[in-house]
Amino acid sequence: MSSLLISRFAPSPTGRLHLGHAYSALCAHDLAKGPAGAGNGRFLLRIEDIDPTRSRPEHVEGIFEDLRWFGLAWDGDVLVQSARLPLYAAALDRLGAMELVYPCFCTRARIAAEIAASAAAPHGPALGPDGGPIYPGICRDLPPEARAARIAAGEAHAWRLDMAKAAALAGPLLWHDSRAGAVVATPQIHGDVVLARKDAPTSYHLAVTVDDAAQGVTDIVRGEDLFAATHVHRLLQALLGLPAPLYHHHALLTDEKGERLAKRAGSPTLASMRADGVDASDLVARLRKMNAALLS
Ligand code: GLU
Repeated sequence: MSSLLISRFAPSPTGRLHLGHAYSALCAHDLAKGPAGAGNGRFLLRIEDIDPTRSRPEHVEGIFEDLRWFGLAWDGDVLVQSARLPLYAAALDRLGAMELVYPCFCTRARIAAEIAASAAAPHGPALGPDGGPIYPGICRDLPPEARAARIAAGEAHAWRLDMAKAAALAGPLLWHDSRAGAVVATPQIHGDVVLARKDAPTSYHLAVTVDDAAQGVTDIVRGEDLFAATHVHRLLQALLGLPAPLYHHHALLTDEKGERLAKRAGSPTLASMRADGVDASDLVARLRKMNAALLS
């Protein structure tokens, strides 16, 4: 008996949805339900609102409105990350009990100064998958008493994963992507990622991993800009004893100049297209045509 396919769309309500989001949502929807919506998989909606400064309630309403305009119905209740903080804290505690996380008191300026100093060294700073320098490990080896004293004094801190230790404990890992095939997980390329931010008791990596498992998501459809993040998610799945879903990282929609639609300044939102009288079913039909090309 084949098991139920469960996909999801997981936008962050930091602005109105663009065509790129709509495309991703449509791919996730169609994988589970088929274009006619009659398939027996499940398509879930999750609001990733853990960023307290950038998330806005009016954008959550905007997401519902845009998906309805698009004719995309989701199954069951909408899962809202800001209501689930204790679950992420529990996952962080588990990693803490395994001695895989440490408090990081660094300010951005402190990290930048350390990186600038290492730029003069023969090898320069280590770079992550986005080309930016990775965290240079300043707080990794603080003595336990110093950590405890700074926390007790109320010093603001994030929690980072001790990546070398975590990857060694998990051992070799694979994940599967429908376009890339079997991928060897290389989470080390990210360095010691943040699992709980100074301003939020979790981070994208931790919350997404916990929630995809909690919602029983079998197939993750998202843009290829998040391909490298999956290395971290695969590691967290292994450490937390969670299942590994299948991944479908699709190509990103670009304009005629090859610029990403989601990132381009002033690129039209679904709300502005609706206001301009764009026909949603035409748009959906055009995006579906692209899907065949971009997902394969
Ligand atoms: N919330 C993320 C975003 O809007 C997407 C997360 C995911 O699909 O894993 O970029």
